[in-house]
Amino acid sequence: MTVVSRFAPSPTGLLHLGHAFSALQAFEAAREAGGRFLLRIEDIDTGRCREEFVAAIEEDLAWLGLTWETPVRRQSEHMADYRAALDRLDAMGLIYPCFLSRRDLRDALSAPHHAPAGGPDDPAVTDTDQRMSPDERAARLARGEPHALRLRMARAIEMAAAASGPLTWRDEQRGLQTCDPMRFGDVVLARKDTPTSYHLAVTVDDAAQGVTMVVRGEDLFEATHVHRLLQALLGLPVPRWRHHRLLVDDQGRRFAKRDRGLTLRALREAGHTPDAVRTMIGL
Ligand code: GLU
Repeated sequence: MTVVSRFAPSPTGLLHLGHAFSALQAFEAAREAGGRFLLRIEDIDTGRCREEFVAAIEEDLAWLGLTWETPVRRQSEHMADYRAALDRLDAMGLIYPCFLSRRDLRDALSAPHHAPAGGPDDPAVTDTDQRMSPDERAARLARGEPHALRLRMARAIEMAAAASGPLTWRDEQRGLQTCDPMRFGDVVLARKDTPTSYHLAVTVDDAAQGVTMVVRGEDLFEATHVHRLLQALLGLPVPRWRHHRLLVDDQGRRFAKRDRGLTLRALREAGHTPDAVRTMIGL
């Protein structure tokens, strides 16, 4: 099978060494296998994404020596695809509107044994619609109040298992994983301000683009449990995953926007070559 890999940055800043590390690994995985490499712009967060960073991403990757297929998929142009996936899950009875803010959830779950609620990783966030009377829910819906859409996780896991047996997925380094998305609770699939979410968009897009190998940082390892479940529910093909270690600076911290001197642009302007950048990141 042809290997199809991708690099999927969000255009919220300039690429830094950590991005180069990830992009090069995805690119090499495809190149070594005689496969295809794709770039995808993950720009659903219109408040934080900037056009100038899209241009900068392409410029920096080209400078590094990467080539990718065109046209480049941009998530902001595919909202109808995410809507269609939400509609399917809704028809399966797996989606519900949630009007509560992070703060509401935190207050509701403030018993000492609960971690702060609302994070992506909070198993305590389930059935949040039960925290509001059916009348109030109906009134808010009728008024068109902004709300998130959540996946009813326990039921989703049950349905997927009933249809296809226990789910697994494979990470190249860590081997076979038993899919266990319950730790995410009723994960948000469409946000109040954006009619999709990272989890939904990435799952729909990897399938739409025929990605067979997802190469990305190990900070997203846990998220793969959610993606695998969504693939099962939506009947999408299952890729392989390679979650690579995260590159850290000399103080052991992950690269981030604050490391301005280590953006690819700054390194280029300081006279470093693409080969020097590869050496810096050990590739
Ligand atoms: N857009 C995500 C990021 O910039 C990566 C998504 C993925 O590789 O699945 O962190």
